[in-house]
Amino acid sequence: MTTTSFSYILSEDENWPPHVRPNSPFGPSIVEIVRSCPLRSCFDASPGYERRMDYPVRIGTAFHRTLQSFYEKGLPNDQETAVKEARERFENELHHQEIDALARPREKSLPRDTTRVDRAVEAILLEAMRYVELGFTPTSFIHSDPNEPGKNSTHEMPRIDSDSVPIEVEVPVRSKDGLFQGRIDRVEHTSDGTVIYDFKSALRDDLPGRYQRQIQLYSLMWHETRGDWPISGFVVYPLAGKAYPVSVDPEVCIKIAQESTTIIKNLQKELSLTRLAIPGDTCTICEYRPWCKPFWSWQSEENSHLQAIERASFGFSGRITRLDLINHRWHLTIAWRNATVRLSTPEERLPHLYNAKIGQTVLILDARLQGAPYTPLAVFSEYSELYLLQSR
Ligand code: SF4
Repeated sequence: MTTTSFSYILSEDENWPPHVRPNSPFGPSIVEIVRSCPLRSCFDASPGYERRMDYPVRIGTAFHRTLQSFYEKGLPNDQETAVKEARERFENELHHQEIDALARPREKSLPRDTTRVDRAVEAILLEAMRYVELGFTPTSFIHSDPNEPGKNSTHEMPRIDSDSVPIEVEVPVRSKDGLFQGRIDRVEHTSDGTVIYDFKSALRDDLPGRYQRQIQLYSLMWHETRGDWPISGFVVYPLAGKAYPVSVDPEVCIKIAQESTTIIKNLQKELSLTRLAIPGDTCTICEYRPWCKPFWSWQSEENSHLQAIERASFGFSGRITRLDLINHRWHLTIAWRNATVRLSTPEERLPHLYNAKIGQTVLILDARLQGAPYTPLAVFSEYSELYLLQSR
């Protein structure tokens, strides 16, 4: 399937399969994508797919960039001005993210989570205050040379005062075999040893295994780049004001690196792209569902109707049996399995339905089915999408 100028109209079979496989070096987050579904990492690496980034991811990017700017450009010395400037930098970064989102057809109707924005602003202001309180300046931080991981652009670790801990930010690290590479958000050199931090913009009160494994892989890369093992590692959720310790026992880190190597080798040697797919829960957050054949096969193979209704919120596909425009609302019925799904949306939400025909196949994503099992209503939210499928 393909999207030439993106119009929510897809042609069968084009753009399947994705043509590029990711190459080394792999960052810890890509390793986790490969672990959850290797096919998704191939979509990620391949051009030609209209992308859709969730708004929380955009807030996270703006947050991360603002934080980085403290260490690169510094902040004014007095707290009031520093806080004001920090807020302006974040708002500016978020504004850029929003412009980017508005230019993407799949993103422009997504809701903006203002509560999360407020949490991000709070976290940025706190970090700015901390920065000023501790007397940091950009020279307090060692900026590692991106071209030579392991080599710092300053020769000595500067200390601002006897209490301050030398800190490195955005530290490039890689494994000896060159398979893994990444940047550690923050490294503190305490008198007891090295502590590493990974910042996540999630608002959660638990620590998923994937975040732990990322810190463990970073620890191994730190060891193979700098020679020592970190004494501890933390996953930090600044928006939630929480930090979780992660075991960085060398034995555990080596085991995680070996496991990750096996996962990457399997991705590289498997010839069939279809066999790389692991349809399941990961599909709920996968932006490539419209083009992913294994996903649609998996959905259509479900035997239990009740289970299929449950899973239809990931995506379902059926044929249009009724299509009316009444009082600026589209009214559709869709034949799906042996049920008739009803759908009603404002006209402006789905302008491409002007090109739809009775009998045409539609793919519907992120719309929950509710009501009678054989005449359910599709609840079409701001997150939902409808694609028209054209036979070639
Ligand atoms: S839709 Fe599911 S199976 Fe397909 S690439 Fe995404 S995660 Fe993998």
